[in-house]
Amino acid sequence: MSQASLRAHQAACRACRACVDDGIIPEANPTFEGEWGAPFLLVGQAPGPSERESRRPFSGRAGKELDRWMLRAGFDSPEEFRRLTYIAALMRCFPGRNAAGTGDLRPPPAAVANCAHWLDAELRILKPRVLIPVGQMAINRFLGAAPLEHRIGNRFGDRPVIVPLPHPSGQSRWLNEPANRERLGAALAHIADLRANRTQELA
Ligand code: SF4
Repeated sequence: MSQASLRAHQAACRACRACVDDGIIPEANPTFEGEWGAPFLLVGQAPGPSERESRRPFSGRAGKELDRWMLRAGFDSPEEFRRLTYIAALMRCFPGRNAAGTGDLRPPPAAVANCAHWLDAELRILKPRVLIPVGQMAINRFLGAAPLEHRIGNRFGDRPVIVPLPHPSGQSRWLNEPANRERLGAALAHIADLRANRTQELA
């Protein structure tokens, strides 16, 4: 696999309209970001309204919190985090707001199924050293269903090493529990360790 394969993949993904054709969403706005050689692959749930506008993943309020977490994980800056990290999602287009207008819809299973091959291709092309699934849905995709308490703070596998994170949106109350904030700290320490190893490889 090569940089050219990644470019071709990204062009095809940006043109994807599968969920519009299937009547799942009214408009397609595939959102992802990353460069060839990125050692980290972060997989979120789906873009929100900010990302639909900017077409940059994690560019809204949740993204600011994610950037703060990554500074805690030892990245020099949000720019360095994003340079070393390819950011994808289970569903790459905005799923819409819920009927009550209080939040975004969860990605419909049909959209996640449509979108899965883009993620599978990135795993094949990029062969990331570290995979960071963010939020319960993305964590379940790679590790199977289990309570967040069994996932956050641990690392799994070898290549890629999987380090799950909770969603940084602030909508979940999971991080209100002090023990869970400690689990988040342990997860960020794992990422710091892996980043330090990567920096040594680059030196
Ligand atoms: S969510 Fe994924 S599969 Fe559906 S239209 Fe967007 S890019 Fe294509």
